[in-house]
Parts: sequence; C-alpha cells; structure tokens
Amino acid sequence: MKASTSQSRAADYGSTVHPVDLQTIGNELAIRWNDGSESFLKLESMRRHCPCAGCRGEMDVMGNLYKSPSRPYSPESFVLRQLPLVGGYAVQPVWGDGHATGIFSWDYLKRVADAETI
Ligand SMILES: [Zn+2]
Repeated sequence: MKASTSQSRAADYGSTVHPVDLQTIGNELAIRWNDGSESFLKLESMRRHCPCAGCRGEMDVMGNLYKSPSRPYSPESFVLRQLPLVGGYAVQPVWGDGHATGIFSWDYLKRVADAETI
C-alpha cells in the first residue's frame, strides 16, 4: 500500500466527484471516477435521462419515475457521436439524431449511473 494523502485531500472537495477516464465501450459509457469506483452506463439510459428541458418532462432520476417520452426516440437517438467536456464540470453528449442540449454534470452523471447499476 502506498502512503499517500490524496484520499484525505480529495475529501476536502466533499461530494465533488469527477471522472478520470471516460470512454464508450460498445453501447455503454465506461466511467472511472476519481474515488476509484467505476460506472458502466448504457447509452440508451443516458439519453433517456437527458436533463435538458426538452427531454426532462416527468422523469426523475431519484424516483426512477419512467414515463414514455413525449417525443419518440429512434435507434439513432442512442448513438453517441461526441462527448465534449463543458467547462470541466460536465459533458454535453451529441447524439446520433442531432440532439445535443443535455448537459450532464459529474454529479448528475454519477447519480444516473449509480441508479442504473442497482
Ligand atoms: Zn434532451
């Protein structure tokens, strides 16, 4: 075991988590977090949890309240074309159908991923 103070220093940021590695593997987004944990989030689930005003509707991550979306998804909707970083605190995925207004903060991304993992 390495002697390190990185753990206690990370705690200074409280609940602030951020990915140290993000990559798409097949139809999943693999996220390695700075706390050492890993999440595998299906791209389809990520899209369905898009937090933008147009998609959010009745959906609630914490309550897992699923309602059929007001707009139909196509297979393209779940294809991730790009995943640009936004200001170092979030990612803004660009989907195959051209949708790109959802900004996933790290905290939100982790909550969605954790909810999916259970
Ligand atoms: Zn959206």
